[in-house]
Amino acid sequence: MRFLSIILFSLLFLITPLFAQSLDNMQDPPGINWKTINTAHYEFIFPEEISTDAQRAANIAEHLYNPETKTMPYPFKRLSVLLSNRSAIANGFVTLAPRRSEWFAVPFRLGSDDGGWYELLAVHELRHAAQFDMLNYHGLNRLWKFLGGELFVSAFNSMLIPRWFWEGDAVLTETVLSNGGRGRKADFTMGVRALQLSGRHYSYYKSALGSYKNFIPNPYPLGYLMVAYARKRYGAQIWADILRRSSWWSFFPFTFTLASHNMSGRFAADMYDDAMNDFRTHWQERQKNLPITPCRILKTEQKNETNFLFPQAGKYGAFYALKTGIAFAPALVKLDSLGRESYSVPILPLNKISIRGGGCSLGLLPGRPALGKTELFRYFRFGFKKRLHTDHFP
Ligand SMILES: [Zn+2]
Repeated sequence: MRFLSIILFSLLFLITPLFAQSLDNMQDPPGINWKTINTAHYEFIFPEEISTDAQRAANIAEHLYNPETKTMPYPFKRLSVLLSNRSAIANGFVTLAPRRSEWFAVPFRLGSDDGGWYELLAVHELRHAAQFDMLNYHGLNRLWKFLGGELFVSAFNSMLIPRWFWEGDAVLTETVLSNGGRGRKADFTMGVRALQLSGRHYSYYKSALGSYKNFIPNPYPLGYLMVAYARKRYGAQIWADILRRSSWWSFFPFTFTLASHNMSGRFAADMYDDAMNDFRTHWQERQKNLPITPCRILKTEQKNETNFLFPQAGKYGAFYALKTGIAFAPALVKLDSLGRESYSVPILPLNKISIRGGGCSLGLLPGRPALGKTELFRYFRFGFKKRLHTDHFP
């Protein structure tokens, strides 16, 4: 009885964010002339004016169906993919209640070099769909679906499967199936490499859940490395086996780590140690003959974790950067040649900032209208001399 109470109590907390995800205000405005394309495995729903894009996206999705499901081999029902072109946010997701994927047809303005936007979305999001289906139609999840619909299944999936797995497996897939992918980028795993090569091997739970005290990279690179290691060590099917096994007892909080032990002989925490040991040895070998570029450290001391992102040179040895951290609001700051901060404007850019000619350009969302998918994205310019002056153009 006590155990059942804990499960029900946990669900109370889980269902709130799930509603936020499934039934939020991210709606398209009325008046759109929606069209559909049905392929063998997908139903694409899209505004009429992007029909050509939708045709291309549908072709890409079909082309990727077999590679995406090869190592997650559960033949899924036709998946609805909603293309939306009214948002300023470059993103996509897969969710349940109802089961669907949504792709925002607005590519990254800066910083993406992975080829086409739809290729990138498809190769990542369709893997999430395969993960979901591997879990949704097995074991006790079938009972949860009968009792509480997809919302129940979603609650158990969120509770039982660590986030590093969802995203690490999807990033590995995007890397394996394309010529790009985050796994090929040096800065993607930089945080984990830096920790491991400086002797900071935190516990599995700290690495997976994060910390308010120490720098812990987000779950994407950790998951990518763990998923890659296990596939190399135990074969490409290992994660499908672990997911299938996890769904057998999908009310038990430790089902994922037990399934991992059943399939590989190693609990998730042991797998983390193995993976980090393996990669650390590999990185140490590579580091041996690496010429180190000399550099001058401008600023180090910080009580709390602090980042100076997108640093760009100003005059007289100064730098401008976006300062972020857990203890303060993000701000554009100027560091002089001794690392002293002399200028600070609170900003929250959507992506990289660009500093040129005595000013800074960046993209901002001025405000979110009632219909979440009609956000207007604007570029702003800050002139450093007139610090309150802003100039914007749509
Ligand atoms: Zn993802």
